[in-house]
Amino acid sequence: MKLEQVGFNRYRLPRQGKMRVSGLVYASPALLEHVRGDNSLQQLAHAAQLPGVVEPVLGMPDIHEGFGLPIGGVMAVSEEGVISAGAVGMDINCGVRLLRTELSADSFDRPLLRKLMTEVEALVPTGVGKKGLHRGITARIFEEVVYQGATAVVKAGFGCPEDIERIEENGCLPGADLAEVSREAIKRGSEQLGTLGGGNHFIELQRVDKVFDPEVAERFGLFEGQLTVMIHTGSRGFGHQICTDYSKGHIPAAPRYGIELPSKGLACAPIDSAEGRSYYAAMACAVNYAFANRQIITADIRQAFVQVLGLRLEDIGLQVVYDVAHNIAKWEEHGGRRLLVHRKGATRALPPGHPANPPVYRGTGHPALVPGSMGTASYVLVGTDLAAESFFSVNHGAGRTLSRSAAERSITKEEFEASMGEILYNTRNFRDVVDEAPQAYKDIEEVVDTLVEIGLTRKIARMMPMAVIKG
Ligand code: 5GP
Ligand code: MN
Ligand code: MN
Repeated sequence: MKLEQVGFNRYRLPRQGKMRVSGLVYASPALLEHVRGDNSLQQLAHAAQLPGVVEPVLGMPDIHEGFGLPIGGVMAVSEEGVISAGAVGMDINCGVRLLRTELSADSFDRPLLRKLMTEVEALVPTGVGKKGLHRGITARIFEEVVYQGATAVVKAGFGCPEDIERIEENGCLPGADLAEVSREAIKRGSEQLGTLGGGNHFIELQRVDKVFDPEVAERFGLFEGQLTVMIHTGSRGFGHQICTDYSKGHIPAAPRYGIELPSKGLACAPIDSAEGRSYYAAMACAVNYAFANRQIITADIRQAFVQVLGLRLEDIGLQVVYDVAHNIAKWEEHGGRRLLVHRKGATRALPPGHPANPPVYRGTGHPALVPGSMGTASYVLVGTDLAAESFFSVNHGAGRTLSRSAAERSITKEEFEASMGEILYNTRNFRDVVDEAPQAYKDIEEVVDTLVEIGLTRKIARMMPMAVIKG
């Protein structure tokens, strides 16, 4: 694909073929090689063909090929445009939550970290297809969960109302309608609420190793040497089933509205059509479910810490710093227009003063949470005014550089262990985690610096992993 450099780390994907708008890709010279190494540019060009798409479609520096829109892709659409399940992603509202503590990470030795990991794993089921341990409660409140999100589980005793103020959308996207969700999705969803899921999902105990902006870090409650906990999970089988149902259903729907689909993965329907409205309503159910899922897991982690440390929760902390989605489509106001912004493997990052920030973070911009890998750093960033050009979006991670199978083929046990150093991990079998090895991901420093150097985002703090529970 033709790509024109239009500035430092910035490339324009000019209109070519059937593209209605151009694309904009952020990459450092080293990352550009990765971008060109798979089909992600082609997939961005496909997204640019959809009706109502607003200039530009964006590729973040962690971009890689996905189903439909690339992971690390942003597609904003006007009210007359389309909504696409493949541009939200399989794991609807997959996202990241960061918890801070009052504790110094240096007081945690390896045996204590191991104890904490074991206790957290006893309370939070991990791995594909696992059932939740709170099914007695969660099955009963399932409807409230899909309509109220995190608030529904707070009411049921998981966490406290202050948590809600620190969740994107206050933990609830309006417009959910359970009548638009299949029985199969509901069955999978009601069983799996309160579980971490497989593979890429994790709960990580971290140490804040560097604060870049002391003032803002203080407002976020972060300090050097602090123990933090990061949670990465989404809507489990519930969102997965909804994505599958609607990606299939929109393939025959699109031509009924005269839409030519550039790929099956970008199956879509007009936002303002029966099929489009149904998907939005179903997606909102999964968005709310995922916020509730991270809320339940937060409560479980708090309980595990209290049990192992024998301290009161007030003395431990574990307050929510923030919770952000990275697979979602949301109505937002941009340049005076109401747009449906699809972020797939991309994180919202609002600048200081933006009215859509939660009140607690109005003056700083909300924290944008960017995990790296199980063996490398993760970042807390904020957006800047310049991020208006990406609809206030930044990358969602380091992004894969090796597919799962390529990682399994090429990374040896010795290489994996060397890259993990002193960091603890739960899985005993190397084979089970090799596809998640740090080497399978791009260099987080390079990816974060790509946007920092443009001025789209600012670093606030960096955390290093101490112990990782992989799903
Ligand atoms: P995704 O949602 O696309 O699967 O993953 C989000 C990002 O999380 C990945 O791009 C990767 O950079 C990061 N990541 C994956 N596994 C881990 C982990 O175990 N710990 C941390 N801190 N980050 C991870
Ligand atoms: Mn994710
Ligand atoms: Mn996910």
